[in-house]
Amino acid sequence: MYIVQVASELAPIAKIGGLADVMMGLSRELKWKGHEVAIFLPKFDCLEKKYLTFKHEPAQPVTTYFQGQWYAGGMEQAKLNGDLTITFYDSHHPKKFFHRGCIYGESDDNDRFLHFSRAVVDFLHAQERVPDIIHVHDWETAIIACLIREPEFRAHFAKTKTVLTIHNFDYQGRCSPHNLDDIGLHSHECMTAEQFLDPITKDGNLLKGGIMYADHVVTVSPTYAKEVLTPQGGKGLDQVLRACSNKFVGILNGLDYSYWNPEIDRFIAHHYTHKDTEPKRRNKQATLHEFGMQYRQDKPLLVAIARLVPQKGIQTLKALFAQAESLGIQYFLLGTAPDPRVHEDFAQIAHAYADHPDIRCVLRTEESLAHKLYAASDMLLVPSEFEPCGLTQLIAMKYGSVPIVRRTGGLADTVFDMGDNNVQNGFCFNSMQSSEAFHAIQRAVEIFVHDQKKWHTLMKQGMEYDFSWNKPTDSYIALYEHHS
Ligand code: ADP
Repeated sequence: MYIVQVASELAPIAKIGGLADVMMGLSRELKWKGHEVAIFLPKFDCLEKKYLTFKHEPAQPVTTYFQGQWYAGGMEQAKLNGDLTITFYDSHHPKKFFHRGCIYGESDDNDRFLHFSRAVVDFLHAQERVPDIIHVHDWETAIIACLIREPEFRAHFAKTKTVLTIHNFDYQGRCSPHNLDDIGLHSHECMTAEQFLDPITKDGNLLKGGIMYADHVVTVSPTYAKEVLTPQGGKGLDQVLRACSNKFVGILNGLDYSYWNPEIDRFIAHHYTHKDTEPKRRNKQATLHEFGMQYRQDKPLLVAIARLVPQKGIQTLKALFAQAESLGIQYFLLGTAPDPRVHEDFAQIAHAYADHPDIRCVLRTEESLAHKLYAASDMLLVPSEFEPCGLTQLIAMKYGSVPIVRRTGGLADTVFDMGDNNVQNGFCFNSMQSSEAFHAIQRAVEIFVHDQKKWHTLMKQGMEYDFSWNKPTDSYIALYEHHS
């Protein structure tokens, strides 16, 4: 099959969260399974270019409709890690949509991603080759599922199927009718037909439009797929999803083990396997030393690696700084907070613990440090209020770091405590009360300190489990091939 993937993130060159990892892992696995995969991404000025090799060819021109005019732009190709081919859209629009030093967070994000989506459709429309599948991700590119069914594109894409994967229902792309007009849709028709009408605000909703038009809608774990059918989980879209239940499914994300793997990880000093975890100890020593912390064999190192947004249980992540000592752990938090007030809160904590022998709070995005922390840590905490899939617990397990998670969404599908009817690979708790998370940490520390044999069994269960993209990719292929 010829599969086109369109998104706003791709690891490791344009990464904010799990979407980036999914784009890379799924695309690679599809390629390994013999499919042709084309990936489209905006040419952000903040791309991590060191992983890319641009082709020595001029960009292919593309002309795109936006706000009543046609704008020139270019599609430029590059290889990622000598493997995947990425096509980057560079816009010549005077607003320099992708030259903002960031991926998201601009007041005109709607314009930026709608313009990108329309450019991809204009480009594909001008090609002879027609994709079998166009797979779009989240609100940023969801509009493509609708655009290709417009009269000017419909015939060309008649045999193309669209799949929309929703990585988080918290982000829906609320918009105004004029945003739809800007890329050539007729908002009065879209809104009266209720395709894009937000059920609560009665404004436009790009994610809802994608759900209405896509041939298949996926979210990233079976449990989250159930949770979003409830008013609390669906964030206003639960009824819409229930009405589309025949085309809505949960497929658990995988992990790219050619990238997340302690046997070959390029960012860690000492490689190790589930058969010999001894070098893991040296990674712990090295990372603690790098941050001026003390190496303690008797204390587990617990890490949390997360975007510091309410979804991630920031109250508990914060409260743990004061509790770490009494719980008998070393605690390392790596995160960034898009909300300046939350950032300020954590910046004060970072300052207060800057010289502490057992505690660190580092507020930046740093891929290499994340890898080092997975390799160094004994435990990983994920106290999320909701978690569509969650990748950090999967990565942690591969690196022999035992996850302690709140039983929700994809966390509930992948981490099993004693008595969960599966082989235990971690610790779970149910409530959002910090005390419950601390109790689960206590149970983990107890085993770490008093029963190293059992601890190693827990580590190994996680390390040996197959959370690769192999099975999830087969599920996606089945969906791509499904005849409705
Ligand atoms: P989400 O997509 O909601 O952010 P996931 O658990 O699905 O959460 O994915 C998070 C990804 O982002 C993981 O690969 C994790 O290692 C990475 N990550 C989160 N915060 C940071 C950070 N500050 N520095 C480096 N990597 C980070």
